[in-house]
Amino acid sequence: MSQPYLLYETDPTYQMAVKQLKDAAALLGLPDEIIEVLRHPERLLQVKIPVRMDNGKIKVFIGWRSQHNSALGPYKGGIRYREDVNPGEVVALSMWMTWKNSLAGIPYGGGKGGIRVNPKELSPRELEELSRKFFAAISRIVGPDVDIPAPDVYTNPQTMAWYFDEYSKIVGYNAWGVVTAKPPLLGGLNVRVVSTGYGVALVAREAAKRWIGGVEGKTVAIQGFGNVGRYAALYLKEWGATIVAVSDRSGAVYDPNGLDVEELMKVKNETRKVINYKKGDVKIISNEELLELPVDILVPAATENVITEKNADNIKAKVISEGANGPTTPEADLILHKKGVVVIPDILANAGGVTMSWIEWSHNRMGCWLTDEEALNRLDRMMTHNFNRVYDEWQKKYSDHPMRAAAYAIAVDRVVKAMKLRGWI
Ligand code: GLU
Repeated sequence: MSQPYLLYETDPTYQMAVKQLKDAAALLGLPDEIIEVLRHPERLLQVKIPVRMDNGKIKVFIGWRSQHNSALGPYKGGIRYREDVNPGEVVALSMWMTWKNSLAGIPYGGGKGGIRVNPKELSPRELEELSRKFFAAISRIVGPDVDIPAPDVYTNPQTMAWYFDEYSKIVGYNAWGVVTAKPPLLGGLNVRVVSTGYGVALVAREAAKRWIGGVEGKTVAIQGFGNVGRYAALYLKEWGATIVAVSDRSGAVYDPNGLDVEELMKVKNETRKVINYKKGDVKIISNEELLELPVDILVPAATENVITEKNADNIKAKVISEGANGPTTPEADLILHKKGVVVIPDILANAGGVTMSWIEWSHNRMGCWLTDEEALNRLDRMMTHNFNRVYDEWQKKYSDHPMRAAAYAIAVDRVVKAMKLRGWI
């Protein structure tokens, strides 16, 4: 890489995304110039958002929207609110969206956004003002055919309702297709909220069938108990697995005899902390300890870079389904592969959210609405098909590498072919 001169180039998450891209390019035999084209976003916008706080003072927040690639369709991806968001992370995540959407076979490119803010410190009114002003600030570069945001870490259907309303006021009509994961009353689907976790569980189920004889009777640990972790837990339990550990930022709860997932959801909703769960023989452990538990299936559904070369050797799970984006570093991926662990890569495992977003968006545009059951069945069919396609390609062509290699090869290849067809390269 040349001397870093762009504000995102020194970020470790960005560097990890570039490393994964380079590995895929090497497998596909792509020249360096293609890497050079793909390692930068098509556009990165930084905006300033001054908010009048409840104490009467103005506070300035900074936000970004990165539009990585649009060869396969409009940019698509979430917007996260977190106190440590930075442009490198946002660009990396937008690149991952390009691969995720390409692999899912949905007609989207990749985008991602973020605001540097701790949303827990803002009142609902401050949060609304921040959200509306941010969306107004990026309104010229988004739109139902241009760039379609959605929730990500600490944003939700209410945030989407504010974005949708702000944008609709600017353009003068109800622009249903500008964001997805909207509340059901505003064109969203009830099942969008469960769909990322459902997808993470679906691919874990498929991998378990092929690798460890199915999910029934198997033990599961889940890091993160947000929208992804909790629904992955719920569905895996429904299919006969035992959820022995879950965590959030406060720590982890562990009971080798199994946790009551509904009760955990209640405790989390009421007290915001899973460590307040008191049923059975529960023990409190750390997030790091959870990753190393003797379980069959591990679901890292919290954040980036949690499985690294430092702890990969201690991991005992046989199947890992990546609910978060970027939880495993490339070095750890190799260690796990050598140990015979199947790591279902994020761009495949957590594509349930954006795939349901596409189902919502295409129906908004047709003016018709699906039932919950139809939407979930469709997601099940698409994810099961995609998992098996990647798994077979992996076994056939890339079995010396982690499964991620096969996923990346398929995803990058589609984007490069689309760019060639369009005459971009
Ligand atoms: N934020 C989610 C993701 O990382 C969903 C994006 C979307 O629905 O556009 O895939």
